[in-house]
Amino acid sequence: MSHKLIIIGSGPAGWTAAIYAARAELQPIVFEGEQPGGQLITTTEVENFPGFPEGIQGPELMEKMKEQAKRFNTEIISESVETVDFSSRPFKVVSKGKTYECESVIIATGATARRLGLESEEKLIGHGVSYCATCDGFFFKNKNVVVIGGGDGAMEEATFLTRFANKVTIVHRKDAFTASKIMQERVKKNPKIDIIWNSEVIEILGVDQNKVTGIKVKDTKTNVESEIQTDGVFAAIGHVPNTKIFKDQIDINEKGYIVTQPDSTKTNIECVFAAGDVQDWKWRQAVSAAGSGCIAAIEAERALSEQEDNKS
Ligand code: NAP
Repeated sequence: MSHKLIIIGSGPAGWTAAIYAARAELQPIVFEGEQPGGQLITTTEVENFPGFPEGIQGPELMEKMKEQAKRFNTEIISESVETVDFSSRPFKVVSKGKTYECESVIIATGATARRLGLESEEKLIGHGVSYCATCDGFFFKNKNVVVIGGGDGAMEEATFLTRFANKVTIVHRKDAFTASKIMQERVKKNPKIDIIWNSEVIEILGVDQNKVTGIKVKDTKTNVESEIQTDGVFAAIGHVPNTKIFKDQIDINEKGYIVTQPDSTKTNIECVFAAGDVQDWKWRQAVSAAGSGCIAAIEAERALSEQEDNKS
C-alpha cells in the first residue's frame, strides 16, 4: 500500500505539517525518531511562541503539538528513518528494515547546534548554556554572558545579547574572526562587548550548583589556564543540518542544508518538500519552522490533488 504522505521529523515543522496534512485528509505518517521533539526538547522556557503569554516549557510545547497532530488522525511511528529512495514513485522510506511506500514526503529533520563537546556543557544546557540568543537572551537581563565563536553567528548573538546583558565577552580560539567585516565592526565598536582571543573553552563551571557560574579557558599559544566568571554561555559555533540520509537523493548545498525553491518548500524532486531548520540556516525559530511546516503540507496537498486531477 502506498501512503499519501510521510513526514520525517518531529520538531515544530514536522508536527505543524502533520496537523495541516491530517486535516486535509492525507492520513500522514510521522516518523518522530527515537529522540523526538527536535531542538525544543533541550530548551527550558519558551517565551516567544505566540499563544502562550506566560511562556511554556520546550518539551511541553512539543507534546502539545504532537497531541494536536494525533487528534486529526496522524499515524506516529517512534523510529528513525534509516534510508530513503526518491529515485522513482512511489518513494520508499525504510525504518527498522521495513519499507514504507508513499506519494509525497516532507523532510523536517531539523538541525543540531554544534556542541563544544564538554561534559559540563551537556549538564548545564538550559541552566545557563544556550545555543540561541533570540530564544534565551531575555533571561540574562543585567547579567554577564560569554559568546563562543568567531563567525557571523557569534557576532550576531553577541550584538543581540547587548540589549539585555551588562557585558558580553566573546571568546574565540583564534586571533581573528571569520565573520563578515560589517558584523565584526559592529561588535568591535560596541562598548558592551569584550573579546578574548586565542582561547579555548575547556570547562563550563557551575555543575555543582546546577547553573553556570563561569568558564575555564586555555590560552592556545601559552597553554595557560584561567577562569572567567559569567552567568551564561552562548555557544555560536555553527549548526549541522540533519541531512545525512538524504545525501545523493536530493539537492543539498555546500553547508549540508536541503535546497528549496524561493518562497516554497519544494525541493528539486517533485512531491518531496523540506520544512524548518533542515532547509533554513537563517531564521531558525520554532515559529518560523512551524510556518514552513504549514506551507509544506499545503504544497503537498496541492501537488497530490493536481496529480489526481491529471489522472482523471
Ligand atoms: P560558522 O561560520 O561555521 O562559524 C563557526 C565559528 O565557530 C568559527 O569561528 C569557528 O572557529 C568556531 N568554532 C567551530 N567549532 C568550534 C569549537 N569546537 N570550539 C570553538 N569554536 C569553534 O557558523 P555560523 O557563525 O553559525 O554561521 C553559519 C552560516 O550562517 C555562515 O554562512 C554565516 O555567514 C551565516 N550567518 C549569517 C548571518 C547574517 O548574515 N546575519 C548570521 C548568522 C549566520 P574556527 O574558525 O576556529 O573554526
